Amino acid sequence: MQIIFIAAILLGIIFIAFSIRFTWWWRPFYNGFAVFMYHHVRPAYQNKRGEDLSFAITPETFEEHVKYLITKGYNFIGLEDLSSNNIKKPAMLTFDDGYVDNYKFVFPILKKYNIKAVIFLIAGKIGIDPELMTWEQVYEMQNSGLVSFGSHGLTHANIRRMEASSAIKELKESKHILETKLGHSISAFCYPLGAGGTDERVRKLVFDAGYLFDFSTRRGLNPWPLKSDRTIYRAFPRGKETKLDFILQTHLGRSKL
Ligand SMILES: [Zn+2]
Repeated sequence: MQIIFIAAILLGIIFIAFSIRFTWWWRPFYNGFAVFMYHHVRPAYQNKRGEDLSFAITPETFEEHVKYLITKGYNFIGLEDLSSNNIKKPAMLTFDDGYVDNYKFVFPILKKYNIKAVIFLIAGKIGIDPELMTWEQVYEMQNSGLVSFGSHGLTHANIRRMEASSAIKELKESKHILETKLGHSISAFCYPLGAGGTDERVRKLVFDAGYLFDFSTRRGLNPWPLKSDRTIYRAFPRGKETKLDFILQTHLGRSKL
């Protein structure tokens, strides 16, 4: 009888350990900080050949996301708020690359709801690549007080594949350009090309270059207040996802269980 009892307890422990390790059932109750990653926001998320641009969502879908988060009582924070520890229920909207459609379609929605967002700029391509925002558009967004900017590198190249000298140039020169143009310190770096663009060596170079925060494409929520020893994870809402997917993105930092 005693053996059956012990075996039942052991099985119970194994079951609990397994479910914590391999399922996410407990995550909806984890009060984490969700950072959302977007790229293009534009009316058509197919290109001219009819291929899906999986990194794009429509302005309507983006507005639905904003409305859902407002309804649930989230506070939209900027980079300047990351060191704060008295903001309740924070959420952050981030946009990689600095596409001109962010200015055309995202900025009006930010103004409509008076909410903050973050854009990571490719410092060496602003005003050169026609798909990206101009400095005038960047200034207008900065002057609104709603948009803060971080660095997404100088050329959007894979920093992990670079020798130290080139990697340091990407990190420091992009920071310097943005600081000179925007007139304040740049505290955040977002790795180009996602998780494949970084490792521990690159992460150390980022902090050596003077950045305080690093944003990755690793999925999940973040502790709040933030812990500096951990790269910032992001949820990645996609154009064709459902409302349920977005609810999961908000509570799990990913859309599939
Ligand atoms: Zn990018």
